[in-house]
Amino acid sequence: MVNNNTHPVNVLKFCPRCGSANFPATGSRSFKCGDCSFNYFANSSAAVAVLLFNEHGELLFTRRAIEPHFGKLDLPGGFIDPMETGEQAAIREIQEELGIPVHSLQYFCSYPNEYIFSGYSVFTLDLAFLAKTESLHLMTAMDDISSFEFYKPQDVNLAELPSVSMKNIIKELMQREGTY
Ligand SMILES: [Zn+2]
Repeated sequence: MVNNNTHPVNVLKFCPRCGSANFPATGSRSFKCGDCSFNYFANSSAAVAVLLFNEHGELLFTRRAIEPHFGKLDLPGGFIDPMETGEQAAIREIQEELGIPVHSLQYFCSYPNEYIFSGYSVFTLDLAFLAKTESLHLMTAMDDISSFEFYKPQDVNLAELPSVSMKNIIKELMQREGTY
C-alpha cells in the first residue's frame, strides 16, 4: 500500500543527532541510534485542506505550481506549523496562497495521505475545514499554486486530483451534501 523505496525506514541511514551510521530501524516507523541512543519516530505530519464554496455552490480548487503533482488539481492548504492550531494554519495558508482572509472555520473530516517529497514519504493527516470569505473576487494565485478553479464536488474529475486524501474529502462532501 505504501511506497517502499521512499519509506523512512529505507531512506534514513544516519542518526540525525550524532551522524552515526549505526542507526537501525526498530519498527515500521521507529529508529534507535546504536551510538547515542537517540530514538526517532516517523509520525504523521498534520496538514489542512480548506473548503471554500462560491455563491453557485462550487468548490475552490487550486492548480499546483510545484512537484509533486505539478499542474494537477489540489485543495488549498498545507502543513500545520509546529504549535499552530488547524484553524490558524487554514487561515495562514489561504492568506499565503490566495491573498484573502477567511473566517468561520468549521472542522469537516480528516483523511491520511502519503506525500512523497524529495524522494521521502511524508505521512500526513489532512484535516479538512469548511471556511467562509467575502473576498473570493480578490483572490490571486501565489506561493505554490499557478491558478484557481471552481467545480461542483460531483463535477470535478477525480483523476485530476492525485492526492488520495483530497479525493476522499471530495467523496465525503458528496455523501454529506445538504448537511454543511
Ligand atoms: Zn546517534
